[in-house]
Amino acid sequence: MRSRYSAYCMKEGNYIVQTYAQEKRHEHTTEDILLFANQVEFVNLEIIDTNHDDNFQYVEFKASYLEGQQLGMLHERSRFIKEEGRWVYLDGELYPSNDKKVSRNDPCPCLSGKKFKKCHG
Ligand SMILES: [Zn+2]
Repeated sequence: MRSRYSAYCMKEGNYIVQTYAQEKRHEHTTEDILLFANQVEFVNLEIIDTNHDDNFQYVEFKASYLEGQQLGMLHERSRFIKEEGRWVYLDGELYPSNDKKVSRNDPCPCLSGKKFKKCHG
């Protein structure tokens, strides 16, 4: 999960495609992933909860990203399945979340402690 997040930050579309479960891989193209990754800038990742059962691992996380001055949040409970010895992303359940506007003098959403205008603004 963390490595996929990093891949989104680094805009490594191929890696993201490769870490989808086999049955899902055909639904996602590197182009689509990069289109999204290039549109936004991820600023923070918070892991809320992780657990597993016999078949799956679950990771609930909140990933904050900026799209211009808009702060968006991806709040998801992802499900991972083990294929050929490694955990890959199967699917996820999205929670509703609201976008909000960040003002220039607000604390930066990346939690650097700086004002937005001096950091990611
Ligand atoms: Zn920042």
